[in-house]
Amino acid sequence: MNRSPYDVLGVPRAASQQEIKKAFRRLARTYHPDLNPNGPSAERRFREVQHAYDILGHADKRRQYDRFGASYFRPGYSSASAHGVRDVVNEFMEAFVRQEMPRRKRGEDLRYYLSITLEEAGRGGYKTITVNRSEDCDHCRGTGASDKDGKIPCPACEGLGEVRPRRGLFNFRRPCTSCRGTGYKIVTPCSQCGGTGRHRREDVIRVRIPPGVETGQRLKVHGRGNGGYQEGEPGDLFVVVHVKDHELFRRQGTELLCDVNVSFYDAALGAEIDVPTLDGPARITIPPGVQSGKLYRLKGRGMPELGGKRERGDLHVRIVVETPVNLSDEQKRILEEFKRTTTAGTHHG
Ligand SMILES: [Zn+2]
Ligand SMILES: [Zn+2]
Repeated sequence: MNRSPYDVLGVPRAASQQEIKKAFRRLARTYHPDLNPNGPSAERRFREVQHAYDILGHADKRRQYDRFGASYFRPGYSSASAHGVRDVVNEFMEAFVRQEMPRRKRGEDLRYYLSITLEEAGRGGYKTITVNRSEDCDHCRGTGASDKDGKIPCPACEGLGEVRPRRGLFNFRRPCTSCRGTGYKIVTPCSQCGGTGRHRREDVIRVRIPPGVETGQRLKVHGRGNGGYQEGEPGDLFVVVHVKDHELFRRQGTELLCDVNVSFYDAALGAEIDVPTLDGPARITIPPGVQSGKLYRLKGRGMPELGGKRERGDLHVRIVVETPVNLSDEQKRILEEFKRTTTAGTHHG
């Protein structure tokens, strides 16, 4: 624990500053915590080496040590003097960390809410939508700097993109807040993007609507989310479908239901009537005496099954018998007569 810094670095008392530096670099490489992630003893050794070099690495401090011994350095060591060590460590750590922390990143996924009609959901097909996507600026290739001289290594993290405040035995790494982890500072911002490194563009995208799609379903458009960062992969676009309510048809999966009004005389006498379907009007025959609420099935006139090979579902037509309003005097007279004949008929059995 109280070994002399010369012993720690394994150099003689007469070693030159150059020899001391060389010994330190060699030991720092051997014991650096990033290279020995699971070695607490390496961590302890590394600190010892750092401490030793912090004294012997500076000619004036070394002279003070030679004169006054270790006690001179005991109190108050740590914060102020730690910096010189870091410079040397960072010299070789920089390449290591740069490789380890690429700035490349996948672009974000995007979501787009698309409303379509029931007819469109039934037919399927293509819809054209306009999506606001962000991408790396073409001009600065996402760096935000004007050109090669437009940026300098971040002074706060010395270009590493992360800082390691020393707390206790462990080194906690966290992204540098000053440069937001990029490792550089922009001195001359890119004229095209103003230094953000990104630009927005409106993209016109053709989305395939599969027949039978339902509200809430997500259609994935591969690679059409936000562009990747620094040549990273683009995100995906998710189109969330909303099928609008239809004024005539209600939908239950592949089945459709609609109400059709029938006059009371057609209901009583029977008739051929036109009913709406998704494909245009269809004619059905209703027998005499049909009741309100009676259901008729039109086979294959419902919705297709999503991705299915089965034929379409059915359309269920519900008869609604209309009661006449605003009768003329003559119509009233005829209905009175009609009523009289039916009540009389009832009386006589
Ligand atoms: Zn730019
Ligand atoms: Zn930084």
